Amino acid sequence: MDLSLYNREALIRDNPRVFALARECRGKSSLRSKLTKLFSELEVEASREEGLPITARARIRDCGQVLGNMLQKRSDELAGFSLAQALLDLARDVPRPDLTPPFYADLYHILEGMQGRGSSVALEDVYVTPFDQLSGREAAIARSDQLDRLRVEVDRRISRFTSGLEPEAIERRRQRREAICRILGASEVEWQDWRWHIANVVKDQELLERLVRLTPEESGALQEARKHALPFGATPYYLSLIDDEPGLRDGAIRAQILPPMDYVCQVAATTDTATLDFMGEEDTSPFDLITRRYPSICILKPYNTCPQICVYCQRNWEIDDAMASGAFAGMDRVEAAINWIREHPAIHEVLVTGGDPLAMGDGAIRAILSKLAEIPTVERIRIGTRTLVTMPSRMTEELADLLGGFRQPGKRMVAVVTHVQHPYEITPDLVAAVDRLRQRGIPVYNQLVYTFFVSRRFEAAALRRLLRLVGIDPYYTFNTKGKEETISYRVPVSRLLQEQQEEARLLPGLERTDEAVFNVPRLGKNYLRSGMHRDLLSILPDGSRVYEFYSWEKNISTAIRTYSTSDVPILDYLGRLEAAGENVSDYDTIWYYF
Ligand code: SF4
Repeated sequence: MDLSLYNREALIRDNPRVFALARECRGKSSLRSKLTKLFSELEVEASREEGLPITARARIRDCGQVLGNMLQKRSDELAGFSLAQALLDLARDVPRPDLTPPFYADLYHILEGMQGRGSSVALEDVYVTPFDQLSGREAAIARSDQLDRLRVEVDRRISRFTSGLEPEAIERRRQRREAICRILGASEVEWQDWRWHIANVVKDQELLERLVRLTPEESGALQEARKHALPFGATPYYLSLIDDEPGLRDGAIRAQILPPMDYVCQVAATTDTATLDFMGEEDTSPFDLITRRYPSICILKPYNTCPQICVYCQRNWEIDDAMASGAFAGMDRVEAAINWIREHPAIHEVLVTGGDPLAMGDGAIRAILSKLAEIPTVERIRIGTRTLVTMPSRMTEELADLLGGFRQPGKRMVAVVTHVQHPYEITPDLVAAVDRLRQRGIPVYNQLVYTFFVSRRFEAAALRRLLRLVGIDPYYTFNTKGKEETISYRVPVSRLLQEQQEEARLLPGLERTDEAVFNVPRLGKNYLRSGMHRDLLSILPDGSRVYEFYSWEKNISTAIRTYSTSDVPILDYLGRLEAAGENVSDYDTIWYYF
């Protein structure tokens, strides 16, 4: 990365028109009006410039609009920082020691874009349309050849990411399984039994380090986490997915369960765990065990633990430990919650989640689903589970029959929503478990959490492609939100938008069926696909963008609330990618997604 561009001198040197204007202004309001006029002039100049690519024109428009919004007084108030004042100070040589390279980097690129400069090519430019020079079959063949080259490039990039279905991975896991069974004294029959995995969830660090080679950092952070009683645990099966040698291939799997030190320190320092309730579940629970954010759907949480704890889980503030005793709420409380659902016929869909409800025995699952099935207004029962990934042996023929038995075509649907994070988590065992459900007419959907560890170019595309092949429909891709303790996992909104436009867009429609969302505390999902549902308010001195997200009711009600939050600085994110061996110039267009 060329860091020499990201300072005051380079910013002023390369944007003489902006700063000459700023020097003429007496205060923020004259700066606002003069720069807004300049943005319009630049747009008009661009429209007159012959041969200027349409992408440059669109970028001038987008950057001008974004800058115009960031200079507004309202933006200053909501962000608690004035970009207009920063521009004035920079123009007048007023010292601003608070402004950092990530701030200069973001502003530099937006100003570049506003003048029609900056990178605009995501992939090698194989994509020039032939229709100007050719027509008919000739044009179609030339176009088809170009599309071939594009897809070859997509496949080349997707092939970087190892899937758990590759023969070498299957063999590697076989060896890992044998080694784990030897240490735990387990037979092959026991390994295939989900109850054995539940009974042998690994929570003890000493045992874990006999089963998995941890790096010194992983080991130190886990020790600290256990000292502060942070929830931790993984099934022997999930541990068998981890490589003998720590590396990039299994990075997403390790990151899923092994907390980094910064996370541990932040959570350990939190005296009131309710402050970790980022989604404000306490404020959206109208009845014990129920969460409701939408008109037709509610969440029912009968069981508040899992066989494997994800570090960044949004509910881990209420989870004591992996498979902690007393996790089942008890049938009395569950029945009371189901009665509440019965009294609210507007609710047509119930998401049974937790924790992981399929970590319960078949008897409890049957009892809960039977009660729900008695409510005529409940048309869909959705089950949220990661057991397909953490313990696929849980999906026995009996359990699949049990779930399928509640399906009544035309009356009631049963669906499973799972959480596969990486192609390396997809194994033949997972495929067989999914297939058991599909054979009973139960669709399986996936929710991906777009963490740093799955955010390299085409990594999520590789996952979606494989998900669809094994019978799982991509459903949501979640931005990692503002949970401060999970900063190591967070990815800027702009990277997720870039991924959707430049990578997911190259997949067939049936593979890119998921929706990119930002989960707004208390209010629910904000669809990132549409820029109409958010505004970029500012860039803070540390380089983090501040967004204002609208609630999903934006076009339905006038009395809606918004939510403002700061993102991860793009330059910091790119620095981490570079440290992980990525060529960051491959991500150059990231600055132009707002
Ligand atoms: S499986 Fe789901 S509920 Fe359980 S720890 Fe992971 S994210 Fe949280």
